[in-house]
Amino acid sequence: MRSIAQNIAEIKASLPAMVTLVAVSKTQPNDALMDAYHAGQRIFGENRVQELASKAEALPADIEWHMIGHLQTNKVKYIAPFVCLIHSVDSSKLLKEINKEAARNGRIIPVLLQFHIAEEESKFGLNWEEAEALLTSDDFRGMRNIRVVGVMGMATFTENKNQVRKEFGSLKNIFERLKANHFAEEPSFKEISMGMSGDYTIAIQEGSTMVRLGSSIFGSRS
Ligand SMILES: *Cc1c(COP(=O)(O)O)cnc(C)c1O
Repeated sequence: MRSIAQNIAEIKASLPAMVTLVAVSKTQPNDALMDAYHAGQRIFGENRVQELASKAEALPADIEWHMIGHLQTNKVKYIAPFVCLIHSVDSSKLLKEINKEAARNGRIIPVLLQFHIAEEESKFGLNWEEAEALLTSDDFRGMRNIRVVGVMGMATFTENKNQVRKEFGSLKNIFERLKANHFAEEPSFKEISMGMSGDYTIAIQEGSTMVRLGSSIFGSRS
């Protein structure tokens, strides 16, 4: 069996230099995260607030924690003191709450806008009109403690590579249009978080800057 360290080394060697690797450690025990840590990995992604908060407390302080899963407004306060990037902003209500909790902690929290690019109904995310409404609102203009640094999306879970490619292409297109419309003067708007273990090669070809890999690092989740 290959080790976590070997998996990370292989994946890192295959990623273009500009692409950030987020190790998705949900459901994995702290020992497994520490194996990745000793292999040099410092960015970890979790999809549940409670698990994220308790791992952050137990593990080394130089880990950068990313929230990648659906986030409820009433739980923002538990991660606001330390979270490095929230990938899953899908409403102006959530963004407002993140701004409020960031201010209480004297921080500016970087976030990504999550877009619904998949065919499946079940996945969370904004559509183009919703994002435009959010970014042109007075509410948004008043938010001093968040920084929108890019977009995130998940492709349909399918064997059809053309469809996956098309969906990732649509997120890249959304990114370019948002950049032109709202962030032309902001170099920090640069991230496209797309690609998981099954589809990250396609995501990179379509312009991903950040891949979120779980099972290809840690093995399948129980
Ligand atoms: C679980 C998860 C991943 C990683 O999935 P793998 O297929 O194990 O790589 C990536 N992104 C999100 C949002 C997830 O919930």
